[in-house]
Amino acid sequence: MELSLNCLRCKANMEQGFLLDRGHSGKYSGEWVPGAAQQSDWNPETVKEPQETKKIVAYRCTACGYLEFYAKRR
Ligand SMILES: [Zn+2]
Repeated sequence: MELSLNCLRCKANMEQGFLLDRGHSGKYSGEWVPGAAQQSDWNPETVKEPQETKKIVAYRCTACGYLEFYAKRR
């Protein structure tokens, strides 16, 4: 999914990217999870393993930096 988008704020071109999620065992691309975050039983600072996630695609305005997110694919 490569969209050609213009910024909602300043109308400049937006470039595709993603949210980097740095974990203890490596780097991941960020994912969207439906519903409210549920605390893990083991470690309250973490969340429970989600049933369903979608990869987040983030578009960034090349002029003002405004971000817009999409989560369409698994
Ligand atoms: Zn902009």
